[in-house]
Amino acid sequence: MKLRPLVGRALDFVYPRICLHCDRSIRQDSLLRLCASCQGYIVPDIQRQRGDELEITSLYPYNSPLFSLLKAWKYGRDRLAGQLVLKYWKDGLDCLPQSYLGGRTTVTWVPMFPLKQIYRGRHTARDLARSTGASHAALLHRWWPVRSQAGKKRKDRLQASAFGIVPSDRKCHEILLVDDIVTTGRTLTLCAEILQPMCEGDLRAVTLLRADT
Ligand SMILES: [Zn+2]
Repeated sequence: MKLRPLVGRALDFVYPRICLHCDRSIRQDSLLRLCASCQGYIVPDIQRQRGDELEITSLYPYNSPLFSLLKAWKYGRDRLAGQLVLKYWKDGLDCLPQSYLGGRTTVTWVPMFPLKQIYRGRHTARDLARSTGASHAALLHRWWPVRSQAGKKRKDRLQASAFGIVPSDRKCHEILLVDDIVTTGRTLTLCAEILQPMCEGDLRAVTLLRADT
């Protein structure tokens, strides 16, 4: 009898591997993080929402098992979960019109406060942006942790915002702003307002997941 399947079965017994989303057991020798049924539920479901002057496109709903993969990658530094997230991200992007990632588009991302990034060790929005295959650039910096800008006038909001543009006289034809999750859309809208002066054409936002509203 072959040794490998035997060892696999023994490991299944001693350390049962469970689905990240529904806790059902999955086979040890599979490289998967989700059970077959949860995988089946991950289907792109494109939705557009308007945040003030910005149209935000999200690829998957919040209750998708993809959220469990994202959490494992983002907070648990699970590399395999990360690879799977990137695969589903590309599947979702394939459902968008080609103009989103056209040849003149610069892809950028909602930045993370530097200390938070060091602590977390993973910057998912940046990794998503980089994996699009389109030309990408860090156009924004986050100077300090985000504070509520609710109720402030537009000018004060921009001045007091946690974000700043990377010093550059660069002009972009089109910009695609990427983040992992959209909830209210306020952060993306703020980033878009800051980026607007350097963008000559369309400025769009795409996120992997959206929160239930
Ligand atoms: Zn499952």
